[in-house]
Amino acid sequence: MGSESYDVIVIGAGVGGPTAGAILAQKEGMKVLVLEKASRLGGRDISFDFSDEGEKSYRKLISDAASTWYMKSEPGIPELFEGGHLDGYTFEAGIHTLQITEKGRTNTCLEYLGKSMKLYPAVSAGWWHKGELYRFENGSEKGGNFPWMTDDDRVETGKINRLMVKMSAEEAHAIDHVSLKEWVQSYTDNEKTHEFHFVNGTMNCTINDPANISAGDCILMNRGVARAGKRFSYGGCSTPGVPGFVQIPGKLCEVIEENGGKVLTGARVKEVLIENGKVEGVLAEINGTEEKIECPVVINSGMVNEMFRYIPERHFPYTFVSQVKGFWRAGIGAVYFALNEKVVNEHLTFIPKIAGREDGFDSDVRMGFWDSSGMDPDRAPEGKQLLDAYVSLTDEQAHDRKLVDLAYDRMKKYMEDHYPGFKEALAWTLYTVSDSLVPVAQAPYQVGTARPRAKCNFVEGLYMASDSSECSMAANDAAIHAGIIAASRVSGKDYVAEILPDYLQD
Ligand SMILES: Cc1cc2nc3c(=O)[nH]c(=O)nc-3n(C[C@H](O)[C@H](O)[C@H](O)COP(=O)(O)OP(=O)(O)OC[C@H]3O[C@@H](n4cnc5c(N)ncnc54)[C@H](O)[C@@H]3O)c2cc1C
Repeated sequence: MGSESYDVIVIGAGVGGPTAGAILAQKEGMKVLVLEKASRLGGRDISFDFSDEGEKSYRKLISDAASTWYMKSEPGIPELFEGGHLDGYTFEAGIHTLQITEKGRTNTCLEYLGKSMKLYPAVSAGWWHKGELYRFENGSEKGGNFPWMTDDDRVETGKINRLMVKMSAEEAHAIDHVSLKEWVQSYTDNEKTHEFHFVNGTMNCTINDPANISAGDCILMNRGVARAGKRFSYGGCSTPGVPGFVQIPGKLCEVIEENGGKVLTGARVKEVLIENGKVEGVLAEINGTEEKIECPVVINSGMVNEMFRYIPERHFPYTFVSQVKGFWRAGIGAVYFALNEKVVNEHLTFIPKIAGREDGFDSDVRMGFWDSSGMDPDRAPEGKQLLDAYVSLTDEQAHDRKLVDLAYDRMKKYMEDHYPGFKEALAWTLYTVSDSLVPVAQAPYQVGTARPRAKCNFVEGLYMASDSSECSMAANDAAIHAGIIAASRVSGKDYVAEILPDYLQD
């Protein structure tokens, strides 16, 4: 790095850190250095177009940056890559969608920074109930128009919807540590209402068991979607296949570089240097060479559960260390089904149950899938269909090969049994798993004030900005929130109020 000096060092070129870095660089004139250990930027938002991607680099990148690993494929992975099966397809590590589409935090923040991103909104949805598919288009489900429900069911479901949408942020945070199951059941014993809200909770938080979902955080998400004027049949989107979701961290890093900063890949922070309770800089390995870089402000955007790998735990109280190490993660089994012709006609589809306790899981296992090439035709060769399907898994389940295989078998069988022509049209399948879609699952006692604060309470000059630190709601939009909060704490200015509409601030 020679003699260059920086005002801020960001650890990680994912979403949270670069959001903070971009705001500080563009609005506060700070000189920002981003150090990313992987060979490409993006973190868990990494994308692949396979024009120049071998099996080895694909497997290394999903594992290095996205805590995702290959499980199996049909045909086997050497044939999948070498036989040209992936030519013309693009996808991410796992599936990626933005829940509130253009009105969510991600797009709002990018626009604030003068960047824009093309989004392909979903406009139709399917919901399977007792072996039958119910289709919704452009919000036809509005007002509780769910044909499998009786009038009584609709009244009860609508009652819970209204409670959620009308809740203030303070009221929602007051039930951060109550489970969604307990909260919904305290208002109604209607079974269809339970199913509807528990499946929605799974889709929001990537957690199957409603007893493990934070009512407060889940309600903030539903309320955000509704107040933004979205519904479940038009509440998500795809991003252009090329460059893919990775354009989000890419654009944030562009802002940093346009404002005099630098983004280095292949740059691992080995240690955050702390003296007398104050950050002094970092010790990094940059393309094989060890370097000490002095800097009074370090923003960590690596997952908080992994922070003690490079921020010595001796600087923190034991209670904090054990709490952070004890957070459990929400994972995912992500499957790509490539079809030689269009078989599915909805952009996103929910299946309330494909497996359950009887199979060794902790609750009903739900399945969701996206017709990603239907939203963005560039994601598959002309005439073909790419479906990104997933089931939620706890981190423990993600490492249980037998359970994961069972879930995969059920996913494929569901498609074969319920979509005529699926079996015949299936060209190839790729099965991956991640234990860290959300590194600190949105569970009671893991959200709100339970998370490490954006401004570290124990080390001066240390800040956190990731979807696992101080923020609300899920995943990408949560990481953006965390980045905006961190930029506010570093600068002393309220960027949350400046950038976000009120229903996305808390
Ligand atoms: C399979 C999967 C599916 C997902 N689906 C969705 C979705 O549909 N919608 C959605 O909104 N979100 C989704 N997400 C989540 C979304 O990708 C994340 O919320 C977002 O990328 C988090 O950004 P972040 O900055 O908090 O962390 P990350 O993206 O993890 O970035 C942290 C970065 O820090 C780097 N790093 C860590 N330690 C060091 C070190 N010592 N030195 C240097 N660099 C370091 C890492 O390599 C990484 O690049 C998904 C994630 C996965 C894994």
